[in-house]
Amino acid sequence: MKKILLSLLGIFILILLFTLFFAETGLKIQAQSENPNLPDFNAVAEEAASDLQKYIQIKTIRGNEIESANFLKAILEKNGIQVKLIPYPGKPDRTSLLAELPGTEEGGGVIFMNHMDVVEAEAAEWKYPPFGAIRIDDRIYGRGSVDMKGLGMMQLYAMLLIKKSGIKLKHKLMYAAFADEESRSMHGAQYIVNNHRDLFKGYEFIHNEGGSGTDGVAVKGSKIFNLQYAEKGILWLELESKAESGHGSTPPVSYAAKNMLEFLLELQTFSKDTIISDVTSAFFYQMGVASSFPNSFVLKRSRNPLIQLILNGVIKSNRHLRAMTSNTISITGIDSDPIGINVITNHTRATVDIRLLPGVVPDEYLAKIKKIADKYKIEIKVKHSEAATVSPMDSKFFQTLAGTAVKVVPEAVVTPFLSPGTTDSSYFRMHGFKCYGLIPALLTDYELDGIHGKDESIRISHLKMGIQILYETILNYNK
Ligand SMILES: [Zn+2]
Repeated sequence: MKKILLSLLGIFILILLFTLFFAETGLKIQAQSENPNLPDFNAVAEEAASDLQKYIQIKTIRGNEIESANFLKAILEKNGIQVKLIPYPGKPDRTSLLAELPGTEEGGGVIFMNHMDVVEAEAAEWKYPPFGAIRIDDRIYGRGSVDMKGLGMMQLYAMLLIKKSGIKLKHKLMYAAFADEESRSMHGAQYIVNNHRDLFKGYEFIHNEGGSGTDGVAVKGSKIFNLQYAEKGILWLELESKAESGHGSTPPVSYAAKNMLEFLLELQTFSKDTIISDVTSAFFYQMGVASSFPNSFVLKRSRNPLIQLILNGVIKSNRHLRAMTSNTISITGIDSDPIGINVITNHTRATVDIRLLPGVVPDEYLAKIKKIADKYKIEIKVKHSEAATVSPMDSKFFQTLAGTAVKVVPEAVVTPFLSPGTTDSSYFRMHGFKCYGLIPALLTDYELDGIHGKDESIRISHLKMGIQILYETILNYNK
């Protein structure tokens, strides 16, 4: 018996070793042909840079988008493009903007989507005033220079170039600049897509933020376009533990604060599994393409059980990789309103932020959590529940955008990117639009850290690359 088991084990190991020689499949990208008569992108980028400076100087910290909308409206109208302003009812300062170029065919339209609001900036931490839009050589400093006025400017100039070229598009193109993205879009994208769905008739694809090109970030010396096709789901829970108060010198077996802590501890062990799906393995494969041996060998075989033993350690020690491969649970607050050091309080509250992988049903996940909560007498209130949203990677627009990016930067690699956070794309995916997130420029660690951080900045060369990739993507998509 023992002999049989040993030989079975031997065969199993041999099979595993054998499969090591076969790499999994990466992302298949359709090659794009050259476009003749391209404009002088250096000159276009200079023009865009000067408009970006003015755009950053309009303060739109979670509001006042009307001023930005009017600024963009003037540029679009000067170029002969009609504009529609959509104020949020009763709040005219929260205004969004839509502008369109017509197409000769029905359907298949593309929306360049962006947001005009920005987050706060702690001026004392910055090298230059956050709303000064100071240009030093090839770089403009300012809040929103990347997220997302910079990307909005790339999209705007790509659209203006299409208009100037006189090319008749097969599929219409929309420029959509929304209010209120940074505070969950109630006065912007959510309101507009839920109440004015008809405005987007004939549109199928959306280009938005959510992913970025990177220069030497994940792998030294690599150039990677992380093309976002999916966003994780959200489950926000408020927890409450109630029990009788008591004397600190004679604790009962269970009481409010202890129950809450024990529940939270068990919750942490509940979701530690690493899940490598087809698409995550395609992400790792592409990372392998960008890496050198031996990392390339490992990354291209992420679903192999032997390799997973090695890869798991790497994933678990990196918060970004962990977020891409597991359902994460963050304890974002604990409060027991302490009365005195020798008094056991009668209640403890906590909040958790749970992010779910595609394919996980929030209600089913919640039911499992409730089972554990019952054990510790914890009450759960759901503050927000939203499943992950996913767009296909074999769609014409994804393929065209990916193919154009690597045509403009041939040494770059495209990875399919699942983002842990959400953008306005999630609301549009729920309405059936296929949404893809990409800042089509190669940002460094320094530039990525500036997003919502200090010294946010963008280079003119980034604007140039972004405008070129978006402009050529629209040309290629309409061929
Ligand atoms: Zn943003």
